[in-house]
Amino acid sequence: MSGLDNIKPIHNWFKKLDSHPIVISGPCSAESEEQLLATAHELKKIEQVKIFRAGVWKPRTRPNSFEGRGEDALQWLNRVKLETGLLTTVEVASPKHVEMCLRHNVDILWIGARTTSNPFSVQELASALQGMNIPVMVKNPINPDINLWIGALERIHKAGITKLAAIHRGFYPFEKTILRNIPKWEIPIELKSRFHNLPIICDPSHIAGTRKYVKEMAQKAMDLNIDGLMIESHFNPCEALSDSEQQLTPANLDELLRGLVCRVYNIEHDEIDQLEKYRDQIDSIDTQLIQLLSQRMNIIEEIGEYKFKNNMTILQLKQWEKVRERGVDLGNSLGMSEKFITQLLRMIHKEAILKQNEIMNSK
Ligand code: PEP
Ligand code: MN
Repeated sequence: MSGLDNIKPIHNWFKKLDSHPIVISGPCSAESEEQLLATAHELKKIEQVKIFRAGVWKPRTRPNSFEGRGEDALQWLNRVKLETGLLTTVEVASPKHVEMCLRHNVDILWIGARTTSNPFSVQELASALQGMNIPVMVKNPINPDINLWIGALERIHKAGITKLAAIHRGFYPFEKTILRNIPKWEIPIELKSRFHNLPIICDPSHIAGTRKYVKEMAQKAMDLNIDGLMIESHFNPCEALSDSEQQLTPANLDELLRGLVCRVYNIEHDEIDQLEKYRDQIDSIDTQLIQLLSQRMNIIEEIGEYKFKNNMTILQLKQWEKVRERGVDLGNSLGMSEKFITQLLRMIHKEAILKQNEIMNSK
């Protein structure tokens, strides 16, 4: 497979896109004409912001949540464009959305994470886009499957779209973590190393989930020489109808962008240093290891309570032996020594016993 060749760099999409990084900002959802215009006029004052985003149809986890304003919002967005000169981008999830966006002069489309996860939906979008000359950005799928992401990019590319970019927005965590979505930086890095000319944009807002971590995630993306940032902003985030915790005011965004350290792009060092790539992989794995250990400890606390209520002893030697044997077998099959796995599990087990002792003593 020759892959995603002849892809146009972002600065070739539109004349205005001549800076680095390209900043896309705007609210999670278009709520009212007033909200869109007020936010867009503030964003317009920030030099790096070139593209205005707004969700018009919102994929919501539960029914009866705010699902977007639909076609009316496309008219408001057109006004944003005329009044501010910002380019506009909207999430599309069906051929009908594509058709409406094209009719209302939306400049760039993006495919959301939930849609990327479903090849049938992506194929329907690709068919609707056949022969169109509009840039399309594809968010990563919900689960960390790089092939699903590549597959979606390929389907859109096969439809003749050469103004194509990937948006990294992190991956769904199985358990609650401090970040809303796990970044797994190794995945966008792998994507970039497979497709050198594919622009990659990071969405630190959906990785962070709360305002407090947006900057750190944006900086990390900059350190990886990402091409652009998509950051949610709202003129009054606390009143936002979706993702109110993670949206920034335009003033906060300005401050964030001023504080970002941009590494100078150097053609000769186009590829991220191999050692740096390995270190990022290790960092990501360590983060997940520690998060998993903390989830394990939470369960241990529940077990401690259960044993206390049922008057059971803390140390259950048979159970420990089972845990050890299972771990050693799995470790062996993955090329790790019995000694290492036993030591590791012993440490974890010791901590679990101490934790349960604390619980019993606190009663
Ligand atoms: C969004 O950008 O508001 C959105 C719904 O994002 P995602 O598809 O990444 O969840
Ligand atoms: Mn959102």
